[in-house]
Amino acid sequence: MSFQLNCPNCGKRAVSEFTFKSELKNRPAADADFSEWTDYVYFRENNMGRQIEWWHHRSGCQSWFLAERDTLNNTDHRSFWYEDLEQNSKDKDGESWW
Ligand SMILES: [Zn+2]
Repeated sequence: MSFQLNCPNCGKRAVSEFTFKSELKNRPAADADFSEWTDYVYFRENNMGRQIEWWHHRSGCQSWFLAERDTLNNTDHRSFWYEDLEQNSKDKDGESWW
């Protein structure tokens, strides 16, 4: 299925210019046990509906950014830098919103 993705640096482009990396997950602590790291590296939620994902603008500005995408229709999303996610998290008294 083809759709457009909004690079925060370049604007809307065909999804064929991008590489999907992964859904956004919280990284375990350095001393987390083996099962937590296995979960983080190998397993995905693969939600039906909205999720926040890592994307790379491979054929454009080479930037890595986050996109909130509805996996059911690929049409309703917003894109932003990771730093914006950190800033928004801090606004909610340290409680993460993803
Ligand atoms: Zn770009």
